[in-house]
Amino acid sequence: MLISDLKENCKNCKGTGFLVGHKDWDGIQTNFNKFCYFCSGRGFVFTELGKKLWELYLPDLKMLIHKEIKKK
Ligand SMILES: [Zn+2]
Repeated sequence: MLISDLKENCKNCKGTGFLVGHKDWDGIQTNFNKFCYFCSGRGFVFTELGKKLWELYLPDLKMLIHKEIKKK
């Protein structure tokens, strides 16, 4: 499996993480930090497979973290 199976470049900002295109300064939705709202500035979005895997592993990850905290 490739990492590109799990996430893909955000089509909205083309992977830059920043808002591109028209600047609607007069509109209500002025994006002050100019982060892409679609990917929250990450520049990528999860694919369907990525989302599913993330949901699958999240409970295990939480358990592992919990165990590590308990050890200390
Ligand atoms: Zn984006």
